[in-house]
Amino acid sequence: MKWLLRVETNWHATRFALVITLFVVTVIGLAEVAFHPLDEWRAQLMVSWPVTTLVTFALTRFMGHKLLKINELIVVLKRAAHRDQLTDVATRDFFFARLAKQPAKPGVSLMVDIDHFKRVNDTYGHLVGDAVIAHVAKILSHKTRRNDLVCRFGGEEFVVFLDNAAPDQARLIAERIRRAVAQSAFEHDGHQVSVTVSIGVSTAAPAKDIEDTIRQADAALYQAKAAGRNQTVLAGAALAS
Ligand code: GH3
Ligand code: MG
Ligand code: MG
Repeated sequence: MKWLLRVETNWHATRFALVITLFVVTVIGLAEVAFHPLDEWRAQLMVSWPVTTLVTFALTRFMGHKLLKINELIVVLKRAAHRDQLTDVATRDFFFARLAKQPAKPGVSLMVDIDHFKRVNDTYGHLVGDAVIAHVAKILSHKTRRNDLVCRFGGEEFVVFLDNAAPDQARLIAERIRRAVAQSAFEHDGHQVSVTVSIGVSTAAPAKDIEDTIRQADAALYQAKAAGRNQTVLAGAALAS
């Protein structure tokens, strides 16, 4: 039954109409056979079946079209709730909801913050600032694996949950991200806008402890900022790079 209501294309809408029409016509046909004498039924059948079939199909095809529109709307709404509009990475709410569904999943959290971002806004304007945020998000998505979860945590801050990673491995991934951002070319009006990020890396913990690992990553990020930015720092460790 679920497959019938999954109306995602015009063909699904037609399929919905055909199945319901077939069902309705069969039920009416059987009722006619059961409650009317055979000759009368035959006579009626010649007139009423084509009409019933046509009317039912027209109505259910219209319903199928409405279901298609509702399903399209659900996709749009889900996307708006799950993905950040500017960067297309996970929203904060979706990030926590996803991890809450897999509380035992082990991983490491990275807190990534764009360095001196206010200067970008002040120098080039907020629209360029927005483009820089989207640019960094793209690098984060490219440099992480399919099972990892990248989320826009706040304005120019991202949290990444590295699925099943050990802290050392996570630091390597964080370094890869940091270098990629520093080496990336972001241009505006023919001018090269230099962008760097600082990254705090938490210890490994199950997803249910995500708030603790974010706190750890945040403290490590703070150290990276204090040490001059464009750095990766492992929680509880001396400066790592
Ligand atoms: P630090 O290296 O210490 O992180 O310095 P910073 O300038 O990056 O950090 P600060 O917290 O001082 O400034 C962040 C700025 O980000 C301030 C805020 O106006 C801006 N911001 C927040 N969200 C957005 C956004 O969605 N778009 C743009 N363009 N700017 C944003
Ligand atoms: Mg910043
Ligand atoms: Mg910040």
